[in-house]
Amino acid sequence: MPTSAETVQALSQIVGSAHCLSAAVDTEVFTTDYRKLYRGDALAVVLPGSTEEVSQVMAWCHAHQVRVVPQGGNTSLMGGAVPEKDSGAIVLNLRRMNRVLGIDPINDTLSLQAGVTLSGARAAAEGAGRLFPLRIGSEGSCQIGGNLATNAGGTAVLRYGNMRDLVLGIEAVLPDGRVYSSLRGLRKDNTGYDLKQLFIGSEGTLGIITAAVLKLYPQPRAVSAAFIAVQDPAAAVQLLSLAKQMAGPHVTAFELVSADAMTLVCDYLGGARPPLAGSPAWMVLMEFTGTGAQDELDAHLGAVLEAGMDKGWVQDAAVAASLSDVQAFWRLREEISDAQTRTGGSIKCDVSVPLSDIPAFIEEASARVQQLAPGSRMVIYGHMGDGNVHFNPLRPADVPARDYLDAHYHEVSTAVDSLVHQRQGSISAEHGIGVAKRDDLRLYKSEVELALMWQVKRALDPQGLLNPGKMLPTP
Ligand SMILES: Cc1cc2nc3c(=O)[nH]c(=O)nc-3n(C[C@H](O)[C@H](O)[C@H](O)COP(=O)(O)OP(=O)(O)OC[C@H]3O[C@@H](n4cnc5c(N)ncnc54)[C@H](O)[C@@H]3O)c2cc1C
Repeated sequence: MPTSAETVQALSQIVGSAHCLSAAVDTEVFTTDYRKLYRGDALAVVLPGSTEEVSQVMAWCHAHQVRVVPQGGNTSLMGGAVPEKDSGAIVLNLRRMNRVLGIDPINDTLSLQAGVTLSGARAAAEGAGRLFPLRIGSEGSCQIGGNLATNAGGTAVLRYGNMRDLVLGIEAVLPDGRVYSSLRGLRKDNTGYDLKQLFIGSEGTLGIITAAVLKLYPQPRAVSAAFIAVQDPAAAVQLLSLAKQMAGPHVTAFELVSADAMTLVCDYLGGARPPLAGSPAWMVLMEFTGTGAQDELDAHLGAVLEAGMDKGWVQDAAVAASLSDVQAFWRLREEISDAQTRTGGSIKCDVSVPLSDIPAFIEEASARVQQLAPGSRMVIYGHMGDGNVHFNPLRPADVPARDYLDAHYHEVSTAVDSLVHQRQGSISAEHGIGVAKRDDLRLYKSEVELALMWQVKRALDPQGLLNPGKMLPTP
């Protein structure tokens, strides 16, 4: 295997020496994950500027058996975007490939390089009077390539679907340097296997995504939102069903927030005022959007809230009176993730179960956590509208984070995952597998599923060069 110096020398000739980093002071940010839980090292960090350069880098790595960890914004939460220690890998970061390639407002498509940030993609769409609807808290840093590789979800999945639903074509460089492309922007194409879908959600294990064609939607002209106090998750589920019946496609987001999550985030934001008086045990942030008039949309929201009150599902509601109120509501919701990081981290369980099972799952899992780790704060929040909750037990305020995580992480997350599995749920709804959940897959995927996953991996990457040690448990 080539040394770091030989690797840097060869790859500098392809991408330019300014874009091939090897000094620890330059590479550390690329070899440490977002939550600083995983720290690895790399022979080099390579920043290509074009698909052609990616192809040449991959061809060289293939010829010299050098492993490659693809990386976008490095915001993922499962340790998948950084190399492990002594992995003999390079990091291939796409941030220089950040050009919008074109917008077709008639076809409603946006073509772009994979290193464009999600906020860049949304701004480009907005500039053409359209919406690219993926919305996640890390949008300023995460990249479209990373969103595709993780099949990102977020707060508007209820209405628009996740990344898999939002893409029409991709370009990807294969481990041997060949380029696969389906950058055609077609909504219908039944000419055999839909190969692009293989790369979506593959967490960098099959190819380097270098460009994509994304779907655009009409830009909403009106937005109405409310923070709603509900008795419990069962009432929230009923309210969602009612909202869908009454307001149909206007229902864009439906996010559950527990009292502990709200207290934590208000504290993190320097004593922000909670949206509802009386510290309700459970809240929902419900958002409607539409292309019609604002007052019509407000009336839809009002009607749903009134009907929800009549049924006893809505106890209280704070309705946004302006766009800045809507933004303030979303800030409270979006900052819950970082608020946990500041406390030293929680036991992250990003899970999904059928929507109808959510109330019973939350009840059962909360009781189990209190048996295993008494006094845990129950930071439960997230995209309930699509059956996804971030179920994140957090240390009691007087217990040091390290002590709590060392004592309880494994036992609690295993217990929660097992309850999820019993309800036919998923142990990773949107954050992926990375290294954090890799070995758990063996418990929750069938032998056939695991064998097929490995067959796909070996077909595309027979030498196992791409993102080694990630996602797939050792067979
Ligand atoms: C505050 C916060 C909020 C978040 N909220 C959400 C949320 O609501 N929903 C959600 O789904 N996620 C969420 N995330 C997680 C994260 O932002 C997403 O997983 C995001 O899609 C990762 O994109 P990235 O560019 O940062 O990818 P990275 O972290 O760089 O990489 C993620 C994985 O994709 C691979 N990869 C990256 N780029 C490429 C490429 N071009 N080709 C091939 N493989 C590649 C990497 O190898 C790695 O396995 C959140 C994270 C934070 C910090």
